[in-house]
Amino acid sequence: MRTLSLRGWLLAISVLFALLVVGGISLTTYVILSDGMQVVAYDTTERVASSAAGVMRSAVTDSEMLAASQGLFGAERTEAATQLLIDQLPETLAKATFGETEFALYGPDARLEWASSSQALHPDQHAARRRALTALKPMFSTIDAGHVLSGLFTEAELGVTVVHTPVTLPGDAIGVLDVTYLPSNEQEVIDAVRIPMLILAISATLIMVVLMQTSMAWVLNLVSDLRKAADSIDAGRLEERLPADADNEIGDLARSLNRLLDRLQRRAEAQTRFVADASHELATPVAGIRGYTSILRNWGGSDETVREEAIDAIDRESRRMARLSSDLLNLLHLDQGLVLKSEKFDLNKLVRERLATTATRYLDKDIEFEGPVDESLVITGDPDRIEDVLSILLDNAGKYTPVGGQVVVSTRGERDRIFFRVSDTGEGIAPQDVPRVFDRFFRSDKARAEGETGFGLGLSICKSIVDSMGGTIEVASEQGSGTTFEVSLPKSRT
Ligand code: ADP
Repeated sequence: MRTLSLRGWLLAISVLFALLVVGGISLTTYVILSDGMQVVAYDTTERVASSAAGVMRSAVTDSEMLAASQGLFGAERTEAATQLLIDQLPETLAKATFGETEFALYGPDARLEWASSSQALHPDQHAARRRALTALKPMFSTIDAGHVLSGLFTEAELGVTVVHTPVTLPGDAIGVLDVTYLPSNEQEVIDAVRIPMLILAISATLIMVVLMQTSMAWVLNLVSDLRKAADSIDAGRLEERLPADADNEIGDLARSLNRLLDRLQRRAEAQTRFVADASHELATPVAGIRGYTSILRNWGGSDETVREEAIDAIDRESRRMARLSSDLLNLLHLDQGLVLKSEKFDLNKLVRERLATTATRYLDKDIEFEGPVDESLVITGDPDRIEDVLSILLDNAGKYTPVGGQVVVSTRGERDRIFFRVSDTGEGIAPQDVPRVFDRFFRSDKARAEGETGFGLGLSICKSIVDSMGGTIEVASEQGSGTTFEVSLPKSRT
């Protein structure tokens, strides 16, 4: 049973493919965007921190000078200057503020001196502040940042960026200014992009799936048309053809199938013709036998001459039937494919033997049979099948050559082929019959009229044998002067 149709598979694959492509592109874009926003937040914090450190330097000088002008000295002056600095800090740092920035000032002992709001307080970052104090370098911390992908589904959480900046305080003491930047602008950018990006990704996925489905549906419809047309062609209606106009792969497939149908149709027609011809050929001797049997039954008991004549005729007709069934069996075996032997033998010797046998059969016609004299032509192949071909050709030559004629067989070996030729000085073949002599059951009108005993199967058997050896058989004939059959066989296959 089919678990999932081709259409179902293609739909599943196209959805998966679209999700992978569009999802991949959207995810990469989102990660790049949120990384970029994080970098922007860092840069902004760093810029604010360095300008805050700058304005603080002049504020420290100003507050020290103010404390000195009040006639204070030593620790008192430092304390007063520090207080003055802290009192002025909101105003001082306002000059360095950019976006949502909060500040907290820690003294040399990392004790909190002042904070712009509770958002500036990060008790967990104590170690980072100490490191900034020891190294005298700004230290960065990112607090409460969410996972980079969390912003895909809910609000983005870039967290807050804090720079712990070492600053000089009155009395040359070193403290730490915590600059906290709240990246709400950056988060807004990410949040603003999320919905359009999701809508775009979903639309792109849908469009891709629809496009892929449309193109696949088009191909599948063509295949389905082809299948419907193929279904309508049954074994009895081989003349139907598939629609093969499309100039694409489906059209190519239809054309290939049509060629196959052509071959099947030709084969079926040949088979029908063959059966009809075979039945027709069998009907003649059967009718003869039945006729002579009834003669035997009626007069055979009383008239000895009639009896002998009837028995002879029945014998002749039954031999003819035996020959026909043997020829038909031969053809059947040839159609099923020959298993060829491969042995070394002398072709000239074989020709001489066949010539001698044929000559004895046509002694009464006084035909001169000539062949290759003494020399040998050793080849590798199936001597039995080559003998079959030679017998048929020589028998035909004897049959269709009048009294006193000549039949010559010549052989020739070339580098990769061997040839043999059977020529006679017989009646020849009418030009319109030449192309048909290898057809099954073909006999010339003349042969039929003269009551020649063949069935028109000899040459078609020859052709099938030669074909199965990978060779060719050709005929050249001139009416009134003779006929030549030439067989050419590849050396490696013979
Ligand atoms: P058949 O058994 O009738 O000879 P073949 O297939 O051998 O059948 O030959 C087919 C026909 O070809 C013959 O009926 C005959 O008309 C013609 N033919 C074959 N060989 C010769 C030949 N050597 N000379 C003239 N006609 C020939």
